[in-house]
Amino acid sequence: MATCRAAVITEHNKPLTIQQVTIPALDAGSLLVKITASTLCGTDVHRWHGPLGDKDTLPIVTGHEPCGTVEDIAGERTDILGNPVKRGDRVVWSYVACGSCYYCAVACQPCICRGRASWGHNRSDQHPYLLGSCAEYMYVPKECLIIKVPEEVTSASAAASACAYRTVMHGYDRLGAIKSHETVVIQGSGPLGNFATAVAKDHGAKKVLVIGAPANRLEVTKKMGADAVLNLEEVSDEKQRRQWVKEHTDGRGADVVIQVATNMAVPEGLTLLRDGGRYLNIGAGGKANIAVEKIPQEMLFITVRSGEPRHWLQAIDFLASRKKAFPFEEMISKSYKLEQINEAMEAMANYSVVKAVINF
Ligand SMILES: [Zn+2]
Ligand SMILES: [Zn+2]
Repeated sequence: MATCRAAVITEHNKPLTIQQVTIPALDAGSLLVKITASTLCGTDVHRWHGPLGDKDTLPIVTGHEPCGTVEDIAGERTDILGNPVKRGDRVVWSYVACGSCYYCAVACQPCICRGRASWGHNRSDQHPYLLGSCAEYMYVPKECLIIKVPEEVTSASAAASACAYRTVMHGYDRLGAIKSHETVVIQGSGPLGNFATAVAKDHGAKKVLVIGAPANRLEVTKKMGADAVLNLEEVSDEKQRRQWVKEHTDGRGADVVIQVATNMAVPEGLTLLRDGGRYLNIGAGGKANIAVEKIPQEMLFITVRSGEPRHWLQAIDFLASRKKAFPFEEMISKSYKLEQINEAMEAMANYSVVKAVINF
């Protein structure tokens, strides 16, 4: 039986090991992809520290942000645009919703499908074995929609579009149009915050204000088009941060606030919004309470989870078509080899990098 190398979590909080994992036989419509890059995400760190869902059991191949080239296809496949997929094509691919439940078929909200499949938490010793991206190969189930990666997008950026960037695109999809007189405040300056900054500028916001940390991340934020940034480490008083937003918005507060940090940022974020504004809540993790009586009048509160296949396409398309306007590569801060997986996970855990990539 053929095998390939993969970074496996065998015990929570213990070093990952590089193991030989079975390459499955392909069933009709499925693909085998040779991974070229896998970016790491906070979620990978959370899953390393402890199980995220109660159904998840070890050992698992870590990673859920892959980009790779098609090694083998069982039968004929087309991509999300209807073009044939061939061996050697560089691709990313969507998660899979069941397609036939209430959320998928009636509400048309497949991201909250209860039977949704995703990567980076699947057992490495059970078929189809290779559903984590920190591996030389990944198995791509037939239900996945395939998005080809154009030449001008690097594998590392394409990989990041498989989680962070497509979630941002989903958020903007639900938010709707940003008008040319509107000011957007973004809470968070990690990969999602920096990508969200570029999209807000591109979508025509008059002003994009970003509150984040540390200083090196905010330098990237400025290059992604932020009109002004506020360093949380320097301005630790919430009142001063609110004052800063008021000064930029004629005392009203922002038209749109986008949270891409943690749940703990939400109570403050709501105070940065004008009455009637829109709050887009993306960042997960952490706990917070909202004082209902302080919620701005007539506001909209929008949440998103993950992305639909079209958002993978939108993210890849944005990276390709706006390449000249934004230095996307600067969001990937450090490159590692597969055998350096523990170093890379540690760097993500202690925030010493914005986004780490495993290059193959
Ligand atoms: Zn992720
Ligand atoms: Zn479903």
